[in-house]
Amino acid sequence: MHGVAAFGSAHLRGHTVIVCGRAGAARRAVARYRSAGADVLTAVVPSELALLGPSLRRASLVVGVDDGDPGWDVLPAVAREQRTLLLTEEPAAEHGHVTLVGGGPGEADLLTVAGRRALAAADVVYYDRLGPGRVVADLAPGAELIDVGKTPGHHKVPQETIQAMMVESALAGHAVVRLKGGDPFVFGRGGEEVAACLAAEVPVTTIPGISSSVAVPGTVGIPVTHRGVSKMFTVASGHVPFSDDELEHLAGLGGTLVILMGVGTLAQTIAGLRRHGMDPATPAAVVERGYSAEQRSTVARLDKLALAAAEAKCASPAVIVIGDVVAVGNDWKHLTAEFGGAARSLEDVHA
Ligand code: SAH
Repeated sequence: MHGVAAFGSAHLRGHTVIVCGRAGAARRAVARYRSAGADVLTAVVPSELALLGPSLRRASLVVGVDDGDPGWDVLPAVAREQRTLLLTEEPAAEHGHVTLVGGGPGEADLLTVAGRRALAAADVVYYDRLGPGRVVADLAPGAELIDVGKTPGHHKVPQETIQAMMVESALAGHAVVRLKGGDPFVFGRGGEEVAACLAAEVPVTTIPGISSSVAVPGTVGIPVTHRGVSKMFTVASGHVPFSDDELEHLAGLGGTLVILMGVGTLAQTIAGLRRHGMDPATPAAVVERGYSAEQRSTVARLDKLALAAAEAKCASPAVIVIGDVVAVGNDWKHLTAEFGGAARSLEDVHA
């Protein structure tokens, strides 16, 4: 039944749906049919069915949630008598738990099947700016959606607060999904969230996601490794300026350097890499807002990239790629990306 979301969020408007089963077990079905626009009535115990009288006759659908009460075995007969469809559904989880879901780089089709399943079963979803935020309502039709990416004052909800909220709602018995951009364990603070759950004895599982560190270069045709060109890639955070030591090591590594959260420190990073001997002619790229209609890439030699990025007013979120693999993408004239409105090859971007 989760797939009904594909037909739009209010496709059951004007229909009466009767959900039968104990409140805890039935809560997800109730939330889902309500969010589909149906007029939802409930029968918590079998004896309440009779009280529904005319509503029962009007109902388009009777939903039986298996709550273990043998009294519900009357449902098929009731439905037949009223000429109403009967569906049965699994009960919602009795004990709360948290699932960290990697949402991928922002395109709904790049979310895993397991991630979609977790969202479909969620009571509460905490999400933020990166990842497939716009489609959460469709993917989690029965869930309360909480945007922790910004508060009314446009500040992010502090990480400790997010963790406390997740734990609290799991302890209240809810199936909680924490949807994160990319992979939860790549600069996603997923580790802190797992630790917070374990400390509170809340069961927690994680579902990986496609990380922007690989997928965003890929969507413009930059392979992070390429036979004969690069046999390693290093993923680094440019959130805080690199130390001189780090820059020396990064400059000496060879292979491909991928930097996330690095637009603000780009000029410093490039100056440091150059100071430590990286070839000024090394091809480099800034790929902004991958997998969105506003995707854009700026490509230049390493010694020209800071200026090119400043002129183009490059902004976060962006993935920076430094290495000979950037030139490999340039030669693939006919590569077209499957996802993202504006996905195109590097050469087109260059032209
Ligand atoms: N866990 C995420 C990364 C979180 S850090 C992952 O695995 O992808 C956030 C940074 O990721 C952004 O500042 C940006 O550098 C990068 N990023 C994430 N999604 C992106 C996208 N769609 N386009 C460009 N950069 C992206």
